[in-house]
Amino acid sequence: MKRRKLLMIPGPIEFEPSVLRAMGAQTTSHVAADFIEIFGSSLEMMRKVFLAGSGQPFIVSGSGTLAMEIAIANLVEPGDRALVLVTGYFGDRFAEIIERYGAEVDRIKAPLGYSVELEDIERKLKSNRYKLVTVTQVDTSTGIAVDVRHLGNLAHKYGAMVVLDGVCSVAGEELRQEEWNIDLVLTASQKAISVPPGLALLMAGPRAIDAWKFRKTPVLNYYADFTNWLPVMEAYEARKPSYFATPAINLVGALNESLKLILDEGMDARFTRHRLLRDGMQDAIKALGLKQVPVRRDFTATTLSAIYYPDGIDGQKLLAKINSEGIIFAGGLHPEIKNRYFRIGHMGPFSPGEIIYAISAMESALVECGYKFDVGIGLTAAERTFINSHH
Ligand code: PMP
Repeated sequence: MKRRKLLMIPGPIEFEPSVLRAMGAQTTSHVAADFIEIFGSSLEMMRKVFLAGSGQPFIVSGSGTLAMEIAIANLVEPGDRALVLVTGYFGDRFAEIIERYGAEVDRIKAPLGYSVELEDIERKLKSNRYKLVTVTQVDTSTGIAVDVRHLGNLAHKYGAMVVLDGVCSVAGEELRQEEWNIDLVLTASQKAISVPPGLALLMAGPRAIDAWKFRKTPVLNYYADFTNWLPVMEAYEARKPSYFATPAINLVGALNESLKLILDEGMDARFTRHRLLRDGMQDAIKALGLKQVPVRRDFTATTLSAIYYPDGIDGQKLLAKINSEGIIFAGGLHPEIKNRYFRIGHMGPFSPGEIIYAISAMESALVECGYKFDVGIGLTAAERTFINSHH
């Protein structure tokens, strides 16, 4: 019997064996020719994954929060004004970072379980001059996915840039940075990018680079400053040695391998697969009669599901039972409902097989916890969705 548990939390996730093997390669110098090639080609592949042909990629050691901070430190100056779209816990984090850098923040807070509406955003944009709008494409605390296709054009109409937190979306949820006019997208390695935690990844479009270039005041964070990082990224892409701060050599090796696997699959195929996994999971949840945090499928993330525990069921016990079935799910994170729901990550290398396994473990644990339902009803619903997708 397999001893290792299947990790189905919304990051970190399961990683491909070849990605983990790449991490175990002997560490070399950050200016060795073979590493320069790995770094340079990773930057090139990032443009294809973000679908941002004219973007400037950055690879920096750190987690997603650092990626958020790098974006804000470079784009915001004291006295600026930002509009923060909040669909969960991570929207509030953006607001805190922006305030720390001396800018004023207005928030549009969606009711729990809902997304933000373009009309509300436009009303705000009309009422004030904002330098930037931030959005969490998928908020990992609620499983809400904001439809960001028209956000870039809307913000630009009112002279604002769009900064997108794609930590729980890039390389899973559909995102076309250039076509959708998103000025800066940031993510971290440990989610759909499918590399162990430790890399902050950013893609800055031309407006974001200009906003940094024409600042009136210096960037207030030394490590985050594009002034230090841009020459390094340009050098690696030109296949030349350079140094500002030591890169995470082994993680960059793993990133290179994962980006290759992502592009081998192809972005369109990858978005479609994530939608299918979401739909299979959603159909099972619905058939089981479970309530979820997002109230409508059109703004339900493809990268994770957020599900309320049924009434009268002990959540800790349910998760422990699922764990004993061999799968790790995550508890809640949103402060208003933290102990009332759980989360299943299904981004990255997952296939329908793991979704079926997860639903089976969930059904088995629900039976043990005393929840009443027709055993197999969730499995059948998901199976039907997966089979229908072949036709
Ligand atoms: N934004 C979102 C949407 C996230 O899901 C997370 C992590 N769960 C973060 C930001 C912060 O990333 P990290 O934990 O890697 O600092």
